[in-house]
Amino acid sequence: MCFGTTRKPSVWQRRDRLLGALAVASFATLLAAPVFAAVPPAPVADPDSVLRITFLDVGQADAVLIQAPGGRTALVDAGRDEIVPLLRQFDVSGIDLLVATHPHADHIGGMAGVIAAFPVRFYMDNGEPHTTQTYRRLLAALDARPEITYLEASPRTLTLGEVEIDVLPLLPPGTTDHNDRSVTLLVRFGEFRAFLSGDSEVRQLTHLMNRGAVREVALLKAPHHGSDNGFTWDFLNAARPRVVVISVGPNSYGHPRPAALRAYEASGATVFRTDRHGHVSVQGHESGDYDVSFGGEVALRGTGDEPRDAPVAAPGPTGVPAAPGDAGLRLWVHADAPGNDHANPNGEYAVIRNVESRDRPIGGWSLCDRANHCFRFPGGAVLEAGGQIVVHTGSGRADGARYYMGRRQAVWNNNGDTATLYDDTGAVVIVLDY
Ligand SMILES: [Zn+2]
Repeated sequence: MCFGTTRKPSVWQRRDRLLGALAVASFATLLAAPVFAAVPPAPVADPDSVLRITFLDVGQADAVLIQAPGGRTALVDAGRDEIVPLLRQFDVSGIDLLVATHPHADHIGGMAGVIAAFPVRFYMDNGEPHTTQTYRRLLAALDARPEITYLEASPRTLTLGEVEIDVLPLLPPGTTDHNDRSVTLLVRFGEFRAFLSGDSEVRQLTHLMNRGAVREVALLKAPHHGSDNGFTWDFLNAARPRVVVISVGPNSYGHPRPAALRAYEASGATVFRTDRHGHVSVQGHESGDYDVSFGGEVALRGTGDEPRDAPVAAPGPTGVPAAPGDAGLRLWVHADAPGNDHANPNGEYAVIRNVESRDRPIGGWSLCDRANHCFRFPGGAVLEAGGQIVVHTGSGRADGARYYMGRRQAVWNNNGDTATLYDDTGAVVIVLDY
């Protein structure tokens, strides 16, 4: 196993040996039987045959506790600080599967403590090291517990009692940052499904879409603490979550971002947040039914067969409905600039969003108003997968995300106008009448 580093501290070298030996043993186990077949039966914790997934309130961090019917337990991330007393409150006495989605401190900070405090059977991560003290502390804790079997996250299905956990495909090592190599999991119990997303951003969500790995789910852990780079419309339209839980605390990033909250709500999901609701537990039944509780009270019940909303369009920034037309693109016009429109031409703008998971070349395309004031995109312009571009009316320097029509006066009529997007052959792509 190569970690691609030339300055390997001894603890990493020791880990190489540890992991090499244990990976072989674990693969043999996987081939022979379900992963947890060898684990002695745990006490029956839940006579109702319910899967319980609890998003622990650990501030601006992640810790997701999965308790399967029959008592098997998984913990996905361990918060930033000590969480052992909290886990004991939730009747945890051992952990069958411990997952570090990625090596940032808000996900692995409490993990060394967990490893020291509880018996752990399997530990899984994305195989990529980090340079921080927190990460080294985690490795040292693993080194001290050679009985823990290491699993590198690769596409496979693990069993946790009656619950199955699909490990979804990662982007190749070294091709992206840690967030976009989060270990993502599809947790399945009968008809109930939940998607656990780590800190995935647009790139990883797009990768998962391209690999066909996104399925409809009842429950989504909001990627990346509700950041606005933690969703794409394509992804939401495929996952169609009924419940979104955001693991978030006081932070300086503006998490959760208004755009993400709007998107989750527009997709038809009910949103829960650990900063507002505390520990949020979702109980999934084999039938697909689920309920959500916090503070000891059930807050929401849902059935597995309730009809899903129609696919959603991204809501426009000014409430102007998205235009029909090309299914993969959305167009809005923000016609009413602050103050006098003619004195502030950059205060009005059009937004074009790509809700698909493929880049769209738009070089040579044109955006025109009803009076045929047009802006032509330069050759090579690309609207990235899941991204958007803004076309301001006034002047400025284009940077690939923002373009400028170069007008001295307002173009978009506040009382109604038509915006038409043409491709480079002059064919109409989208018409927006507002
Ligand atoms: Zn994080």
